[in-house]
Amino acid sequence: MTTVRTRIAPSPTGDPHVGTAYIALFNMCFARQHGGQFILRIEDTDQVRSSSESEQQIYDALRWLGIEWDEGPDVGGPHGPYRQSERATIYKEHSDILVEKGHAFPCFCSSERLNEVRAQQMANKQTPAYDGHCAHLDPADAQQRVAAGESHVIRMKMPTEGICVVKDMLRGDVEIGWDRMDMQVLMKADGLPTYFLANVVDDHLMGITHVLRGEEWLPSAPKLIKLYEYFGWEQPVLCYMPLLRNPDKSKLSKRKNPTSINFYERMGYLPQAMLNYLGRMGWSMPDEREKFSLEDMIEHFDINRVSLGGPIFDVEKLSWLNGQWLRELSVEQFADAARQWAFNTDYVMQIAPHVQGRVETLSQIAPLAGFFFSGSVPLTAELFAHKKLDNNQVRQVLQIVLWKLESLRQWDKDAITACINATGELLELKLRDIMPLMFAAITGQANSVSVLDAMEILGPDLTRFRLRQALELLGAASKKESKEWEKLLAE
Ligand code: GLU
Repeated sequence: MTTVRTRIAPSPTGDPHVGTAYIALFNMCFARQHGGQFILRIEDTDQVRSSSESEQQIYDALRWLGIEWDEGPDVGGPHGPYRQSERATIYKEHSDILVEKGHAFPCFCSSERLNEVRAQQMANKQTPAYDGHCAHLDPADAQQRVAAGESHVIRMKMPTEGICVVKDMLRGDVEIGWDRMDMQVLMKADGLPTYFLANVVDDHLMGITHVLRGEEWLPSAPKLIKLYEYFGWEQPVLCYMPLLRNPDKSKLSKRKNPTSINFYERMGYLPQAMLNYLGRMGWSMPDEREKFSLEDMIEHFDINRVSLGGPIFDVEKLSWLNGQWLRELSVEQFADAARQWAFNTDYVMQIAPHVQGRVETLSQIAPLAGFFFSGSVPLTAELFAHKKLDNNQVRQVLQIVLWKLESLRQWDKDAITACINATGELLELKLRDIMPLMFAAITGQANSVSVLDAMEILGPDLTRFRLRQALELLGAASKKESKEWEKLLAE
């Protein structure tokens, strides 16, 4: 019998997402339960959006939760490299094979032409799709143009009629019409593959037997299935996991719920509780108990117990479960958890230099610096009363600073200062007009230690969270305001 091999294949393009941890957990449990292996592969073919910081954060966040992989970019293994950006020649070879076999073709269409076709199709109320223009070129001519260095992408051919049956572990047979599949680009003009080609080639070469991925990928499954067929490879078993949802049932989004694992770590959730909660997303123990460890989950894991109703990621329930975990620790373990979280030398040493010059007794530390050890801070509208700005202007400042901070990749005092300065320039405000608002939102006090240092130390997740809370208190931007302010930002 072949060994079960599963994988998680995150794209390092932002904060480490709870959805990644959720899918990783189920893949890991499935592999462990079958005595198999679990692999981590970094899908970083989008060179613009991928970053090594984000990749490192994925490792750190998953490890913090207790998710371990047997092979991956950082631990090595026999099927490497495990980072797609290091596998460019492999994809090129495979794309060439498809072109030679006539399953794929170079496409020279300019973006102007593609836009025109698209506009025409939309005007005719058709679904926009590639019209097959270059699929009909003479292959020898096309090869000559490629050899002459003409810019092109590689597209896959697609059946235009009939039904593709996707065999899903949870849903059984799912039928999708081939006519709904576009002639997918496999290789981009920069010579790098798209998700579809890279994913199929890697899953095959890495010996992946079962693919558990989010159900947002189900509609495009026929493209992957066709690629396996074109290559003549056995397709792994597919399993499309239900998506995590906000309490209002919409797809989990950071506008409604924090989605970064780092946020939950900074808020003081225990990794065991977090993993336990993710394990309850669409799954339950045979005896329905709510609190269970990773070992328990692996022991009793059964993929057939995954239910398809969208699991709701509810922070209140998570907090309740975290409370259960905290209370069941021994006092020593509890104290240890607190130390690991924030009451450790490393964190205290970051704060101490900013507090030392401002106190006369050590007992003043807590009132001054308590906000470093809190999730949210108590906010009142009076805190934001401003000499010059009215409530709407205050909200605008907070929102624009927040947007700017949300797009920061590197989190340090200089970068944070630059965001605030840029907001000042944009709104024609002085720094001294903006800073009191920052103080209020971040520290919950009118005065405290340097707020720029505080923001750096608190980190991106807590800083943004507090700005969001301030906005909620004062009134979040309406749709119209968001549009106007975003426009301002784009100028
Ligand atoms: N890179 C894809 C993602 O970030 C992987 C999806 C898959 O598992 O195939 O979601």
